[in-house]
Amino acid sequence: MSLSVESTAAEIARAVNARDASAREITETFLRHVDAVDGAVGAYLRVEGELARAVAANVDARVGAGEGLPLAGVPLAVKDNMCLIGTKTTCGSRILENWTAPYTSTAVQRLLDAGCVPIGKTNLDEFAMGSSCENSALGVTRNPYALDRVPGGSSGGSAAAVAAREAAIGMGSDTGGSIREPGAFCNLVGFKPTYGRVSRYGLVAFASSLDQIGPLTRSVEDAALAYDAMAGHDPCDSTSLDRPLERTATALRDNLRGMRIGIVREFSLDKLDAPLRAAYERAYRDLEELGATLVDVALPTADYGIATYYLIAPAECSANLARFDGVRYGLQVAADDVNGMYERTRAAGFGPEVKRRVLIGTYALSSGYYDAYYVRAQKARTLVARDFASAFERCDLIASPATSCPAFALGAKSDPYSMYLMDYYTIPMSLAGLPALSVPCGWVEEGSATLPVGLQLCAPHFAEAVLLGAAHAYERTTRHAGRHAPRLEVRR
Ligand code: GLN
Repeated sequence: MSLSVESTAAEIARAVNARDASAREITETFLRHVDAVDGAVGAYLRVEGELARAVAANVDARVGAGEGLPLAGVPLAVKDNMCLIGTKTTCGSRILENWTAPYTSTAVQRLLDAGCVPIGKTNLDEFAMGSSCENSALGVTRNPYALDRVPGGSSGGSAAAVAAREAAIGMGSDTGGSIREPGAFCNLVGFKPTYGRVSRYGLVAFASSLDQIGPLTRSVEDAALAYDAMAGHDPCDSTSLDRPLERTATALRDNLRGMRIGIVREFSLDKLDAPLRAAYERAYRDLEELGATLVDVALPTADYGIATYYLIAPAECSANLARFDGVRYGLQVAADDVNGMYERTRAAGFGPEVKRRVLIGTYALSSGYYDAYYVRAQKARTLVARDFASAFERCDLIASPATSCPAFALGAKSDPYSMYLMDYYTIPMSLAGLPALSVPCGWVEEGSATLPVGLQLCAPHFAEAVLLGAAHAYERTTRHAGRHAPRLEVRR
């Protein structure tokens, strides 16, 4: 089979390991395609052609020397909040616009060790705060399925890159939904592992107790291959888990017989517009037809997810972003004294959403308000986690919508609150630290656009193999993702 930008990561790795294709040829094919389409899509903040070619040559040499590499020659898009030595890591922010990473993050390094070729660094909402990529200070990213719409966020650049066939694997980070929501908006599998499964070393921290790295791919098999390469204990991250890992790529199933899938009472589909509701009703029926038994489960505290998250995440962000003070990293704006320098640097360097979160977080942590806001939010978080624990006594997986609407128009959500509500279905899983993914489950028409819809599946802690196994069975029989392709004007 001949390779093209349509090939999956699994197909590319198979061909390169069999020496039917070289990593160098594949890299050139993808770089040419990026050159042709990225002007319209805007997925990449920077394309690292020279680095990609050097890494590809090295992959060919390793394969030539007899090394089998699980992701040999697979083009990789890296979200620009992950360090890759010698390249800029901007977090989509003016404050880090010219900052070059002095080391490589563990997750990126593991994918490179497995044979991936880094094509470039992708756009994101500033410091991963947002749901549309529109909070980036450095560029606009468009949805490859409808160029006047958002790709989702915050990992919108990586999602758009994979959807536009500008990489086979995109790396995202998910704090409250930032892999799953852009996955759903861009017709991809977007997978957030259990908190602690993938090292955060070298990921610029937003909310450390929630942040988790994961893949965006065009198939469940590719997500499994990427996860297997990235996951595992890392002594450089104190929250990384030292627990046995099960290989997920060998646990992919083709039916759901014997599985109990929980449908969350509080996530009633009646709240959704008719076309979206129909897509999810159909998805639940398909799960049953594949052999699963649907069971009713309750998450009574799920409705408190957004309020809880928007105290905990800004509180942690206000502490994490204190380091950007003009002294050690990035931008420095001169002033007469050191306090003036801090003020001017942060005023010029951070965008409005980041400032809003630093203010909210600082307030929630300040004396007198700490118990009323931060401590209460932590208690609510515990209750959300308990709800999931009780629900999982009755089921093996939980299915729900990934989002409450398909990709919306650029500029359509101008107030912060409507943007915060985008993560209604994904935040509870983040608060509980659970593994969850979004898998394509259908299409809806809006105006002249045909837009993808994502189904969210969530598993108990550490059950990544069960989760990906089931998602594979669903994807394999329903084949929704392949029904439409992005229609991009290719510049030649
Ligand atoms: N949209 C959410 C936020 O703005 C989640 C972002 C994320 O997961 N990084 O915080």
